[in-house]
Amino acid sequence: MITIAAPIIGDEEIKAVNDVLASGMLAQGPKVAELEQAFARYCHTNYAAAVNSGTAALHCALHSAGVQPGDEVIAPTFTFMATCNAILMAGAKPVLVDILEDDFNIDPAKVEAAITPKTKAILGVDLYGQPYDYNALDAIAKKHDLTLIEDACQAIGAHYNGQPAGSLSDIASFSLYATKNIMCGEGGVVTTNDQDMLASVKRFRQHGMTGPYEYAEFGYNYRMTDLVAAIAVEQLKKVDDFTAARQRNAGIFDSGLQNIQGIITPKVMPGRTHVYHQYTIRVTPDASLTRSQLADALKERGIGSGVYYPKPLHAYPHVAALGYSMGDFPVAEKLAGEVLALPVHPKVSEQDAQLVVTAIQEAARG
Ligand SMILES: *Cc1c(COP(=O)(O)O)cnc(C)c1O
Repeated sequence: MITIAAPIIGDEEIKAVNDVLASGMLAQGPKVAELEQAFARYCHTNYAAAVNSGTAALHCALHSAGVQPGDEVIAPTFTFMATCNAILMAGAKPVLVDILEDDFNIDPAKVEAAITPKTKAILGVDLYGQPYDYNALDAIAKKHDLTLIEDACQAIGAHYNGQPAGSLSDIASFSLYATKNIMCGEGGVVTTNDQDMLASVKRFRQHGMTGPYEYAEFGYNYRMTDLVAAIAVEQLKKVDDFTAARQRNAGIFDSGLQNIQGIITPKVMPGRTHVYHQYTIRVTPDASLTRSQLADALKERGIGSGVYYPKPLHAYPHVAALGYSMGDFPVAEKLAGEVLALPVHPKVSEQDAQLVVTAIQEAARG
């Protein structure tokens, strides 16, 4: 079976965890500090702070941006639910906007139109591993004095005009969940160049603590443990190799899946690099079979696939209750019905990737 996702755990990760266990220091300690330094270096930011999930990283980022109840945060409707739930966790209202057909990311023109006096921040997502249009969002944020927050959970190692994901905003959030490009089971990291935002995140992840039993404000327990930080440190050393394997597989798909009626391969926009957290094709109504028929045909040949995401966020009850209905965001609604992710991760060999291509050619050309 060629699965849609598979973590790569080497001897290095196992040894690193054993070393932490043997040290007896399991909670936040030297491995967390080591991960933070390495992450900031990798993302070309001044600072990084580790937390225990990507969702926690988003919540911390929103808090450090001063987002409060009554505020609005603009975000795309086509992303993982955590993007939107983090805004709700901060007590703010997610103001959802449509995406662009080209890169599946937030449509900057729609962002500008959604700004109100209550808008505090823009939360862009580097969906599938390709950065959003940073220059466009940065210009809007500066013009309206808004904080730009990057949900880079899927995009470690991606670039926009040579700048790495994590540095394409005032503050960014990464996830180290088991299926992400690098992982430690559950984990997250915040990156920023802003010292005050860093301090805010470090307080917020630890009950608002500023010193031994000194609490400056409300906060949570979002601390990462040294046990999992040790895994993440090893994974970060391998990220460029992992990315290269994903990009090699994407290249095989790109060339093998051209000129198939109704199959559209993902576009890499000029000036950007894509790290293919997902390699997402579109199965349009012009195709000779439906998306679910194609998924079934792949499954029969032992090839997994996935739909990320079957619905835009505004289709879910707790989000729709904010005042959204189907028809509000036509691009996201259309694409949610067409997207199909193929297994692109580093455990997929060149031969495997070629098998995927052949399977789709045979199924879709039939
Ligand atoms: C994975 C992910 C998150 C949440 O990360 P967790 O570590 O699962 O909490 C948020 N946003 C996006 C786009 C993600 O892919």
